[in-house]
Amino acid sequence: MKTIHIKDSKEDLTIGKIVCVGRNYAEHASELGDQVPDEPILFLKPTSSVIYSGDKIQIPPFTNNMHHEVELVLAIGKDIKNADGIQADEAITAYGVGLDMTLRDVQNELKKKGHPWTISKGFDTSAVLSTFASRWLNKLTLRETISLSVNGKIRQEARLDTMIFFPIKLVQYISSVMKLEKGDIIFTGTPAGVGRVVSGDKIHASISGIAELDCEVE
Ligand code: ZN
Repeated sequence: MKTIHIKDSKEDLTIGKIVCVGRNYAEHASELGDQVPDEPILFLKPTSSVIYSGDKIQIPPFTNNMHHEVELVLAIGKDIKNADGIQADEAITAYGVGLDMTLRDVQNELKKKGHPWTISKGFDTSAVLSTFASRWLNKLTLRETISLSVNGKIRQEARLDTMIFFPIKLVQYISSVMKLEKGDIIFTGTPAGVGRVVSGDKIHASISGIAELDCEVE
């Protein structure tokens, strides 16, 4: 069973499903040669892929190109289905920063064949999570900076308001496709600057004033 820890809260939240959003920053879509979507692109990760700040990321033997993707992660605090904007907003209970580790070579092969991205996105240690910040105690304005550095060098840096679909819109849209339940988490997509990591690399990721994480590639 995997949980998230919310700062200043005694109760840990048991993670339900992990919904991820692709191509949610225009510059990142174009760096991969992809179109900007009309509607959010969704995929899932298994809860078994979750590790936490301080843990080690493992490179599976079936890749030569593991990429970092830093993302704002939303935690859902109540069950919702076909939510309107207000219900979607109120369902978000906490914010964290996460890494959606991606096997880019495997993903490119899968894309070419028109296959699902599962193998490139769902392997063990592919979802790295920070401690979360309660939305009731921390206001997210979307003027925060999300950033990621590898061995002290900044690779990704953007303001959250450069997202194509904002958090409330994403929650609303996802809840029109599948019920969202207490404990579900949502990876909201990555800004430009994704790139390869190799064994020994040290990753630091943060959302200013909200959350941060550190981990090393084994
Ligand atoms: Zn991603």
